[in-house]
Amino acid sequence: MASRKAPRSIHVASLSLLLAASVQAGVALLVSSTSKVGFAQWIFAAAVMGLLLWGIGRGYRLAWLWGRYLTLFLSAMVLVSLVLGLWKGGLPWRVAAVMLAGLVLPLAATSIALGRPSAVDWFDLRCPKCRTPASRGKDFLFRQARCVSCGNVW
Ligand SMILES: [Zn+2]
Repeated sequence: MASRKAPRSIHVASLSLLLAASVQAGVALLVSSTSKVGFAQWIFAAAVMGLLLWGIGRGYRLAWLWGRYLTLFLSAMVLVSLVLGLWKGGLPWRVAAVMLAGLVLPLAATSIALGRPSAVDWFDLRCPKCRTPASRGKDFLFRQARCVSCGNVW
């Protein structure tokens, strides 16, 4: 599996995730002087992204699942908090712009890239029988995928 050449969508997803993780780690360092709780949260988020990055590179289906949906969720969460922060006037525009470019956009890009057909193939998520892409695993860890169309498990 490691010898396969990753498609462009996987490169895009990995680089976007790397950018987002770096920004997360940067924010963690910035908030470390003000609050300990914030630091732990941001470092945890950065660590999770690092783990996802590793899993995507290895072609782990669980990483695909989380990489596809967690990133979309986080992107929306950050976007909402940015809009709220600007609405209330407490958030400087410059910080909002950095968060938008460094977190919201790359996280969304990761999710979109992982939804590309070439990414689906990279994670071996296309049913060998009927070619339907699977988005759900047979078990919690997604070691095996189950086809929603024909019920095939692989
Ligand atoms: Zn099938």
